[in-house]
Amino acid sequence: MKEARFWALDNGKIQCELCARHCIITEGKTGVCGVRKNNKNKLFTMNYSMAAPINVDPIGKKPLFHFYPESFVLSLGTAGCNFKCDYCQNCDLSQSRIEDAPARKVTLKKIHSLAKKGKCRGIAWTYNEPTIWYEFVFDAARFLRKKGFFNVFVTNGYMEKEPFVELSSFIDAINVDIKAFNDEFYAKISRAHLKPVLATCRLAKELGVHIEISYLLVPPLNSHPLEIQKLSRWIKNTLGRETPLHFLRFFPAHRLTDVPATPREALVEAQQIAKMEGLINVYINNLSGSKYQDTYCPECKEMLVHREDFYTILNRVTDGKCPKCKAEVLMVASKK
Ligand code: SF4
Ligand code: SF4
Repeated sequence: MKEARFWALDNGKIQCELCARHCIITEGKTGVCGVRKNNKNKLFTMNYSMAAPINVDPIGKKPLFHFYPESFVLSLGTAGCNFKCDYCQNCDLSQSRIEDAPARKVTLKKIHSLAKKGKCRGIAWTYNEPTIWYEFVFDAARFLRKKGFFNVFVTNGYMEKEPFVELSSFIDAINVDIKAFNDEFYAKISRAHLKPVLATCRLAKELGVHIEISYLLVPPLNSHPLEIQKLSRWIKNTLGRETPLHFLRFFPAHRLTDVPATPREALVEAQQIAKMEGLINVYINNLSGSKYQDTYCPECKEMLVHREDFYTILNRVTDGKCPKCKAEVLMVASKK
């Protein structure tokens, strides 16, 4: 255990100020995430350096399509989460306590050597919600940045402003999972709220962190055309029309097993709506054998990046431009 940051003591109770839940935590108890504990009127992080699992992934799997597209990242997660999503695919990890999870202690040097061995360009903080092991992510991200690696953060967007601003010095890209564009879904399915998530997206943009958005489409709960329209308009007006939007296919999992997997037509319809609203880079990610993962020139419509199963097979973006019509293309670290 290590003393945590971002909390206040009031009347013998601790209020955690790391995420928008603002848990009040009494002696001996943990917050909603299950990994921040009040021990004798101090807040401790119980999962500092306790990682599970650790894998090498193509960056497209995070998903990040417009950031070092050919690169591989060392992905790390831990136990616990500040959300309680009914459909969580990683519930064995996200809803478990640190003592029950298959987590093992990992040093910064070990992460560095694994990343080098895996020929990774960066580190991805992912799988569960990385906010909840903030202190370790902060220390590791700072260390690994100094060693020449980038850091990407795959998040539900619930971190508070002050910790996010501090961490953003070492975070190069984020993927924010917007779970729905209606608060009823957030309350019912994830036991959370939409507003703080949108605030984090806005803040990331203001801070100059590369941002992409994921949206797990769960018909009929968050797939109404008007909802997709509102989501797309918000992204265009707040984050910019070039901001990548990834629609993901839902598969029954955890407590949400009475809703069928997302039909192909629903994903295609959502993609069409988002494009009609003016978004340029809209993808359907986990539809096998689909052409919906490719990037096209916003002007001449030339195919620029071809992907298969999250791997970049071909990248024709040169100096951030389309090689045919020279239009500017959003692509961080495209080849020279
Ligand atoms: S980080 Fe955990 S303890 Fe802190 S407010 Fe969020 S859920 Fe509660
Ligand atoms: S935010 Fe992600 S990891 Fe956490 S419960 Fe929801 S789906 Fe699972």
